[in-house]
Amino acid sequence: MKKTEQLYEGKAKKVYATDTEDVYLVEYKDDATAFNGLKKGTIGGKGIINNKMSNHLFQILEKAGVPTHYVKELSDRETAVKKVEIVPLEVIVRNVAAGSFSKKLGIAEGTKLLVPTLEFSYKNDDLGDPMINDYYAIAIGAATRAEIDRISELAFRINDVLCAYFAERGIDLIDFKVEFGRFHGEIILADEISPDTCRLWDSGTHEKLDKDRFRRDLGKVEDAYQEVSKRLGL
Ligand code: UDP
Repeated sequence: MKKTEQLYEGKAKKVYATDTEDVYLVEYKDDATAFNGLKKGTIGGKGIINNKMSNHLFQILEKAGVPTHYVKELSDRETAVKKVEIVPLEVIVRNVAAGSFSKKLGIAEGTKLLVPTLEFSYKNDDLGDPMINDYYAIAIGAATRAEIDRISELAFRINDVLCAYFAERGIDLIDFKVEFGRFHGEIILADEISPDTCRLWDSGTHEKLDKDRFRRDLGKVEDAYQEVSKRLGL
């Protein structure tokens, strides 16, 4: 398979068309942004770690009954994926209070939630990805009721699978963001799952092993990504 023209360059990835029908190629970069692009930097080796980790987790999720866009890892930074139409929603699942949730509700970071939560943001950089609910999503045509229900079911299933998987490796899955796409009428998991899109805390020390080290200038950013990668055996 060969990549042809570049279709899109995002904050952390480039997307290319390929000579194969229904297949795109994503290339993971070391670039990092936070606060809707206000903070910019690079995290050395991040692209390689995120590519491998996302592909690894997507294969585990496939086995657990979550359809994904994963096709084949092509190189350290490149993966073939199914060509989807992205549903313009960021789907966030939380197990423990952190980040915007803690700020908004005045609940200390690290407070375990009684049940996992689910929320949606409308993917729109100009608006800063505002939080919306299912009725808004349907009303603005972002997704149908059936799609929202399927996305919600899959998001909680992803949470169950990943919580157990990370727990076995001494990591607490605090929260994460996923995105879904439409592929021949089916909703499938797309984008990535990595320390860029999850909060991952060491189960014992509660040390942050994710992009919050970059967002909050905590130092040892590369080390954290490498530690997660090592614990996952990648
Ligand atoms: N997240 C993400 N992309 C975004 C916003 C959030 O991947 O544009 C992830 C983030 O890494 C965290 C979870 O979603 O794992 C919840 O983030 P939160 O809403 O607390 O936002 P933040 O505090 O990061 O602004």
